[in-house]
Amino acid sequence: MSSEKHAATFAPPAVDASGKRDLIGLDRGELEALMAEVGEPKFRARQLWHWLYHRGERDFEKMHNLSKEFRVRLADKFYVGRPGVAVSLASIDGTHKWLLEMRDGQKVEAVHIPEEDRGTLCVSSQVGCTLTCKFCHTGTQRLVRNLAADEILGQVLHARDHLGEWPSPKDGRMLSNIVMMGMGEPLYNFDAVAKALKIVMDGEGIAISKRRITLSTAGVVPLIERCGAELGVNLAISLHAVTDELRDQIVPINKKYPIKELMAALENYPGLSNARRITFEYVMLKGVNDSPADARALVKLISKVPAKVNLIPFNPWPGAPFERSTPAAIRDFSDIVFDAGYSSPVRTPRGEDIMAACGQLKSDSVKQRRSERDREAAA
Ligand code: SAH
Repeated sequence: MSSEKHAATFAPPAVDASGKRDLIGLDRGELEALMAEVGEPKFRARQLWHWLYHRGERDFEKMHNLSKEFRVRLADKFYVGRPGVAVSLASIDGTHKWLLEMRDGQKVEAVHIPEEDRGTLCVSSQVGCTLTCKFCHTGTQRLVRNLAADEILGQVLHARDHLGEWPSPKDGRMLSNIVMMGMGEPLYNFDAVAKALKIVMDGEGIAISKRRITLSTAGVVPLIERCGAELGVNLAISLHAVTDELRDQIVPINKKYPIKELMAALENYPGLSNARRITFEYVMLKGVNDSPADARALVKLISKVPAKVNLIPFNPWPGAPFERSTPAAIRDFSDIVFDAGYSSPVRTPRGEDIMAACGQLKSDSVKQRRSERDREAAA
């Protein structure tokens, strides 16, 4: 399916039935046009932007540099939305996972991972996924729909509310980095992802720099260049296998965009340099892709692009058809990559006790429906 057809088929529902309109998710131009519609000058959009995205204010009454009369009119027509919180789980390692509920009841997961010198939010782009990667829990769920820009942005706003991180601090942020590595394939929902990230990057608002944002893709080759040119964010590629034979099986999008085409697109990724590398993600699956020969083939394959390698020990989920590689296999693999001159950190699984680690995310509604079905079948 073309990406245009995909976007139309899985479009989110049009905005609200309440009659009021959510201001979240409009870009600057749209906010200006909306102000013109209600008979206000352009600069009102800038004032509102500051309240919405720098201060995180949701109550029009508190926006004190706007006239009383205008505040009343705003409250009459608009609101400042957030996703609902269906489930909130805290791990013993400080990781926090939320199952967030959208206007139509669909749910996605967002995960905050605090570290010593940073805090990363893992953001979802779709409800479910079409890719069916064999080691990924979301991959066992069908795609329900794309998220709209405000729903992607809403995950960031919710996390900032939770952390109490308003107004946008200059330094020492608890939410300093964003990875588009939650549920879904961000390049199959590029327009909404791009719109949301541009709002996140805007210097007069949330102000998270493109250098602190990473978009992870399984390799939607035709969108890779646009991602670099329009957003300039860091790119991570879910490689996971070094031959088409194996990658066809475990990352099925490879049948459409095989390794050679993927690598050619990456060589042309705008803005690459030794200081700005592509991250190759490689999930370590016991006896499947974790031999020393695989490691040597990997370094050969990526030799033409400024690259780093991120080894991810497989995170198991109920019924998963793989096991995690042994610590020794991971160490040997990592040594080969490192000796070839690449940084190759092994990603420490975080939030395992709350099923928040990479590839374990899955919307709760589907899990519940499954268990209902299983109960019915057993009855
Ligand atoms: N669709 C995008 C983003 C979502 S997946 C992509 O494919 O990149 C984010 C990362 O988690 C990917 O590298 C994915 O391959 C990895 N992942 C998925 N399931 C995993 C699991 N069970 N254990 C470890 N990593 C997993």
